Amino acid sequence: MYYSEKTVVFYDGKFVKAKQVNCSPFAQTMHYGYGIFEGLRSYQTSNGVAVFKAKAHFERMKYAAQRLSIPLNYSVQDLENIAYDLLDQNNFKDAYIRPLLFCPDNMRLSSKGEAILFMGAWKWPRYLGDNILSTCISSIERPNPKSCPIDAKISGLYVSSIMATNEAHSKKYDEAIMLDQNGNVAQAPGANIFYEKDGELFTPATGHILAGITRQVIMNLAKEKEIKVTEKMISPQELLQADAVMFTGTAVEVALVGAIDGVKFKKNIKHSKCAELADAYADLVHSAYEPAYTII
Ligand code: PMP
Repeated sequence: MYYSEKTVVFYDGKFVKAKQVNCSPFAQTMHYGYGIFEGLRSYQTSNGVAVFKAKAHFERMKYAAQRLSIPLNYSVQDLENIAYDLLDQNNFKDAYIRPLLFCPDNMRLSSKGEAILFMGAWKWPRYLGDNILSTCISSIERPNPKSCPIDAKISGLYVSSIMATNEAHSKKYDEAIMLDQNGNVAQAPGANIFYEKDGELFTPATGHILAGITRQVIMNLAKEKEIKVTEKMISPQELLQADAVMFTGTAVEVALVGAIDGVKFKKNIKHSKCAELADAYADLVHSAYEPAYTII
């Protein structure tokens, strides 16, 4: 699914066939999760193929590398150029792009100051699909921000995301909602969360979340539509009183939530501000209007 015989990826400084890439089982990232990644989407617009908010994503990648002291010897512009070349070489238009900066052979718990950049792309439908989701509050919490920078996409942080998703699926829910260590609502395993009440939007404040680029885009779109958005601490009880809930993220785009722990929201979500913003987001990513793609 992620690659075929013909797929080209960027690996360790050059473009090669995906099937030619050999990764060592002694890579430090493989054992300890000490690596960073990003997730971007490209869209076909009337102005050609464009990578949505490429600079913001690669700036976040540079930030993550710097926080973990993993060398990323490429500028934001270099990374953007690689992403466009990658799309071109694979003849991709609507695609998901995955850069990964990983550390090679090293079984010690210290850095060797070496890293390999991989970038691959594949066609990926919206990560949580198009249906209205049934969700549950997870028993798995977001990682403690004092143990690891949680505002960066660090490979090892995703263990808790996988556990939360597995738990939700084992209970026959589509997706999990994770709390922070204080019992407040944090986010979905790979997306941010907003709730709507009386025509206004609320979303968890920064501190225990990865404040996503899509989250910011949604807040900007809400502002344009004069929908008030408040960032604050949100209890699970408060969330259950919502009129509507949505998840936002590059992979999921905007996914509407219909119920939490079996409690359905009273309002018809199709007539909610969340649904309106989901449509506005879809229009924005397909628009050829340049600032939509660059300015965050
Ligand atoms: N939280 C986590 C843990 C994520 O992995 C993602 C996806 N990158 C998000 C939130 C949403 O971030 P963005 O909108 O920047 O894709």
